Amino acid sequence: MYKIERPKFYAAAIVIVWHDSYGGLRINRKCQVIDTDGNPIPGLYAGCEASGGGNQHGLGRGLVHAYIAGTNAHEEPAA
Ligand SMILES: Cc1cc2nc3c(=O)[nH]c(=O)nc-3n(C[C@H](O)[C@H](O)[C@H](O)COP(=O)(O)OP(=O)(O)OC[C@H]3O[C@@H](n4cnc5c(N)ncnc54)[C@H](O)[C@@H]3O)c2cc1C
Repeated sequence: MYKIERPKFYAAAIVIVWHDSYGGLRINRKCQVIDTDGNPIPGLYAGCEASGGGNQHGLGRGLVHAYIAGTNAHEEPAA
């Protein structure tokens, strides 16, 4: 929008920092990890940054996933 004509000029390196990852293990509504056939893997749970497919952000996502995974892991019968 404006010409930058008069010195002194300064430069700053800008590095992108990721706040969230939206890729990861596929999970169902119980936070069970889903295999390539669409079946839950017994005893394996994931959430937040380790899980993919969601679009929620940050710590709220982590807390909700932890609650869901922990509750369901507690209720899952031992193999
Ligand atoms: C710069 C920045 C700012 C952010 N600001 C906000 C914000 O303001 N509000 C918000 O809600 N969210 C924010 N977020 C996002 C939020 O911090 C993350 O979404 C959240 O912390 C992810 O939680 P997590 O448990 O999935 O992963 P993490 O918090 O990354 O926890 C994973 C843990 O696993 C450990 N680990 C890794 N490998 C191993 C291993 N092999 N064995 C044992 N332990 C291992 C790591 O050391 C780490 O402690 C921010 C993120 C960044 C990067």
